[in-house]
Amino acid sequence: MYAESLELPVGSSQPLASLSALACDPAHSRGRRFAEPPAPTRNAYQRDRDRIVHSTAFRRLVYKTQVFLNHEGDLFRTRLTHSLEVAQLGRSIARALGLNEDLVEAIALAHDLGHTPFGHAGQDTLNECMANHGGFEHNLQSLRVVDQLEERYPAFDGLNLSFEAREGVLKHCSRVNAEHLERSEPGGVGRRFIDHTQPSLEAQLCNLADAIAYNAHDIDDGVRSGLISIEQLLQVELFAHYHQLTLDQHPGLSEKPRRVMYETIRRMLSDQVYDVIDTTRLAVADSGADSLAQVRLAGPLVAFSLNMKSRSIELKKFLFGQLYRHPQVMQTTGQAQQVVRELFAAYVSQPAEMPADFAANDDLHRSVADYIAGMTDRFALREHERLTGRKLL
Ligand code: MG
Repeated sequence: MYAESLELPVGSSQPLASLSALACDPAHSRGRRFAEPPAPTRNAYQRDRDRIVHSTAFRRLVYKTQVFLNHEGDLFRTRLTHSLEVAQLGRSIARALGLNEDLVEAIALAHDLGHTPFGHAGQDTLNECMANHGGFEHNLQSLRVVDQLEERYPAFDGLNLSFEAREGVLKHCSRVNAEHLERSEPGGVGRRFIDHTQPSLEAQLCNLADAIAYNAHDIDDGVRSGLISIEQLLQVELFAHYHQLTLDQHPGLSEKPRRVMYETIRRMLSDQVYDVIDTTRLAVADSGADSLAQVRLAGPLVAFSLNMKSRSIELKKFLFGQLYRHPQVMQTTGQAQQVVRELFAAYVSQPAEMPADFAANDDLHRSVADYIAGMTDRFALREHERLTGRKLL
């Protein structure tokens, strides 16, 4: 999609050096928490990806809000389409760098499995509800989904993914939660947040692919929704630059603003992808790392150049102020928070209203948080109406 359609930016050198000596190798995986015989036709990371695609939590992503509530329009991104776009960008970059594409795809498809209904409004509210019970954090919840909450296998809870996939899923983690993880899994996925070491290059890449994806698709969704305009976006350097280039090269398109916008976004995506590839290659060379073990001890290596980073931050700030905090988005946010808060109170006071597995759990508050976090937007609204008799949103 990228290399064939656009000239490379100035300064990009070809051919690309492969970082494959630093890539995660499924033959040398740190393995699964429960030993399983290898699959005859798939390596460990392909198997991880397949398990994620077949999980219940993955299918629910289609009805979970990214920015716009699921029922607000058919063309807006949902958590599912967002995850697919992250996987596409991640795989493209991984292929160019010689990193493990299967692992990148697995992490990208799983990275948002722990998201609550109603986007960040849902997550923030659940975190408030859990303030005296260990809090709620969506990255840690994604790990809980793949480690514990999925029920697919006879002999163990969760999907029993490889260490490398689980490490990538746990993108951020507080010190307190990391220490908690470390107690149950010494030297496991919580350790790097205590030691301040880095995850694999594949995991680092997924973090950046996530940001590249949502910055671009939120422009598209924001304009489509009518909440932001092209005129406003022209204040953002990254957008304005490619918008002007597009109009210069295709003057006849000025009557077709949507096509101009897509071409602008496409060029932005391409340039960010090339920037990450070039910057990462240089950073790896500068670090002198020649093994995965050394990658873990180096600083973050998958990164934007300083120039691209500042342009990306400018875009992110714009979207935050103009889209995510738009009065129309905030209005639905308030009601979404009320739905989550009232659901939480209802299940805590009447645990039997939850499925038996959740109601029977020793830690009632965690169980309620797990149950609500797993809900799609529309299921949460139905449950809220059933339990309170009031219809919101
Ligand atoms: Mg994401």
